[in-house]
Amino acid sequence: MQFEKFKVMQFPREVLVGHNVLGHITEICDRYSKSRKAGIITGNITYDLAGATVESSLRASGIETEVIKTGNATTENLEKVETWAREISPGILVGVGGGSKVDITKKVAADIEIPYVSVPTSPSHDGIASPRASIRKPNQSLSETAVMPIAIIADTSVMVKAPFRYLAAGAADVISNETAVMDWKLANRLKGEEISSSAAALAEYASHELLEKINLIVPGVEDSVWMVTKQILASGTAMAIASSSRPASGSEHLFSHVLEIQGKGSAIHGEYCAMGTVVSMYLHGGNWEKIRSAFSSIKLSTKAKDYGLSDEDVINALSTAHSIRPERFTILGDTDMSHSAAERALEITGII
Ligand SMILES: [Zn+2]
Repeated sequence: MQFEKFKVMQFPREVLVGHNVLGHITEICDRYSKSRKAGIITGNITYDLAGATVESSLRASGIETEVIKTGNATTENLEKVETWAREISPGILVGVGGGSKVDITKKVAADIEIPYVSVPTSPSHDGIASPRASIRKPNQSLSETAVMPIAIIADTSVMVKAPFRYLAAGAADVISNETAVMDWKLANRLKGEEISSSAAALAEYASHELLEKINLIVPGVEDSVWMVTKQILASGTAMAIASSSRPASGSEHLFSHVLEIQGKGSAIHGEYCAMGTVVSMYLHGGNWEKIRSAFSSIKLSTKAKDYGLSDEDVINALSTAHSIRPERFTILGDTDMSHSAAERALEITGII
């Protein structure tokens, strides 16, 4: 039989992570911008945190710089930013923010075909290092394929100022690789889905590292931010190798997506994923207690009511999550889980 396999992988060209790396923004823009004009996409708080520094550094080096402050990653905000970007016609975009600003930047950069730099201001999820942008439409969240950032500048001295809750959520998003990879292996065994062993190994390595060093993740310590950010970047690399979010997104993410799309509860992405990981690990027959105690050691609750979620909210989310992305086979199977089985799994794991 003739060999016909092929694969396309996209990686960022440069990844700068650590103390005060934000200062390198000028050389990055000098190297990769298509012109001497840059557009910064940020928010009110993130502008003060890092956007202003990016703006003044670029201006000081003679790069014409425009700034737009935007809100959540909704289709409405996306359109506004895209119109602005087409008007100013920059040679590069710089997304400065926790998640939504970088998501908007990704999509706009892909649409107008210019490179962009990801400057995360909090280490709250692995989207800072992936080509996927989640843009929210009323009642639905779309994960859209955009492009990889040309560079990532993850400054730990900036990110350490974010509330500890974000760091814990970012760690949980990485730890969710545990069940994501189990789901991927299951889909490989049951459905013959292609699996990339190197991507799976790297994703597992990232989550194992954080589980092993969970006690070193503490508030206000830049070294903790460094540890989590490194593994967020490793997760991003695993996704790049797989050319898919598969190594970092399985049943626990399907569960999380249902609640996020329905706008249920006050949790942030990594917190929904944490609950999802605990219950998925239980369904896989794995050591869910270990995962749950890791979360509680970083003060991340996996109790639904702590996020204003009712028992019914999470029972329904768990039993219907398989249908949100039917092509992504996981432990949740192909049909709705029965109400009583979902309820029992959530009760045993202490989520309800
Ligand atoms: Zn995630």
